Amino acid sequence: MLDYTLEDWRSRAGQISFRNKAFIDGKFVDAVSGKTFDSINPANGQVLAQVAECDAADVDLAVAAGRRAFEDGRWSRMAPGDRKAVLLKLADLIRANLEEMALLDSLDMGKLVTDAATIDAPGSAHFFQWYAEAIDKVYDEVAPTGPGDLALVSRVPLGVVGAVTPWNFPLDMATWKAAAALAAGNSVVLKPAEQSPLSALRLAELAAEAGVPDGVFNVVPGFGHTAGQALGLHMDVDCLAFTGSTMIGKKFMEYSGQSNLKQVWPETGGKSPNLVFADCENLDAAADMAAFGIFFNQGEVCSANSRLYVERSIKDAFVEKMIARAEGMQPGDPLDPASKMGAIVDEKQTEDIMRFVEGGKKTANLVAGGERAYVDGKGCFVAPTIFDDVSHDDPLARDEIFGPVLSIIPFDSEDEAVTMANDSVYGLAASVWTDNLGRALRVSDKLMAGTVSVNTVDALSAQTPFGGMKQSGFGRDLSLHSFDKYTALKTTWIKYQA
Ligand code: NAD
Repeated sequence: MLDYTLEDWRSRAGQISFRNKAFIDGKFVDAVSGKTFDSINPANGQVLAQVAECDAADVDLAVAAGRRAFEDGRWSRMAPGDRKAVLLKLADLIRANLEEMALLDSLDMGKLVTDAATIDAPGSAHFFQWYAEAIDKVYDEVAPTGPGDLALVSRVPLGVVGAVTPWNFPLDMATWKAAAALAAGNSVVLKPAEQSPLSALRLAELAAEAGVPDGVFNVVPGFGHTAGQALGLHMDVDCLAFTGSTMIGKKFMEYSGQSNLKQVWPETGGKSPNLVFADCENLDAAADMAAFGIFFNQGEVCSANSRLYVERSIKDAFVEKMIARAEGMQPGDPLDPASKMGAIVDEKQTEDIMRFVEGGKKTANLVAGGERAYVDGKGCFVAPTIFDDVSHDDPLARDEIFGPVLSIIPFDSEDEAVTMANDSVYGLAASVWTDNLGRALRVSDKLMAGTVSVNTVDALSAQTPFGGMKQSGFGRDLSLHSFDKYTALKTTWIKYQA
């Protein structure tokens, strides 16, 4: 697959039959209303599929199916080893269908198929495998009570977990929620983003093929203000795991208060700072990763390193390095293995990004990009864009642009760098480049971010929690800590004759 040409990928894309119905209670079904919406390829504007447009009626059916499955124990009380075997099989099936899974995300939201095939789809299989393997290795507790008392503290599944996910990593965001929630024994109702529902629907089908029982994993494609809101307000959903914008994360907190006080786990926006100190020895590596940190996935990454703070003594030289890298990362056909960046998810997001870029041209120093781009005269593409000498208070440095737009800001001291980095409503991730160990530890300690990467960017693994501080939300995906979201602590106290 890694030696595929553009023609190979195009021909394989032409052979896919898209799953376009909702997946409820183990079956593909039309929306109750019969309505559909178009799923559009942003690289060329073509309609890929007309997808079932679920609303509250479909969410009701999916939640009821999830509840039935949870109550009768077909999954929630399955022996841990058996549940593990099913999810391991799902991981294998994702690997067996890697090419198709990669193509679904690439066609649906514009990411490079090469990235989807080497990062997203293998990542999904890996995360399912990781949580499957954890199922029969996580033990509960016996509390230190005393003679005559035995207090068991166990983690029990919550019931029906609603998951609402964004479009930037469609398969992986669905996986981050579903793998842990299913491993913990819950039923799941997933609402993927309306821009990119196709991989989640195929994932549900593969889950059924792997042996996930009917009703345990449901997917309801549809819009946020209908299907998403219905899940958020549902009286029989026990937990709502959300990844998306801060604005909608706040809405889910409100929905919970207006309904059944379901647990809400928001993982939301970011404006991650990347601090490059003059004592960083390998400035070329720092520039390579700074470029990756903002241009990977077209900058549509919640933890994108969109604010680059560079110590003034090396700033001009570093800006030159960044310009060179931006020039080498022009967007192209997402199916072309030679392309360095893909398409922006849709027309609206492209226009939103360009609004920031046009504003920035009046307030900062544009040194790379700054234009909308087209491939074969079509599509939603933005050239990798860099602004230098950005004022710390400029919207370029404050707002989450969610596109390939980098703001460079000089600093004169460690304290100033940390103060500016922390002066944000967000706190998802941060990076520090230095060869001074004391500085690395001191600065990491002070940065208010869920993940601080030193001499790299966006460090992430199944073994480590991912999530934010401040208005980046407080949910944590990945690692065993993710089970905290999908289980309740239950005490069972037994008195006996000591
Ligand atoms: P979004 O908030 O617009 O949408 C996310 C999901 O919420 C979609 O499924 C959408 O349909 C649904 N939704 C929208 N309006 C809703 C409403 N009124 N009620 C209920 N549901 C609603 O975000 P997006 O544009 O899809 O994704 C981009 C955002 O996601 C960025 O802010 C990015 O930082 C964030 N993100 C965060 C993480 C993280 O882990 N912290 C990861 C990826 C993306």
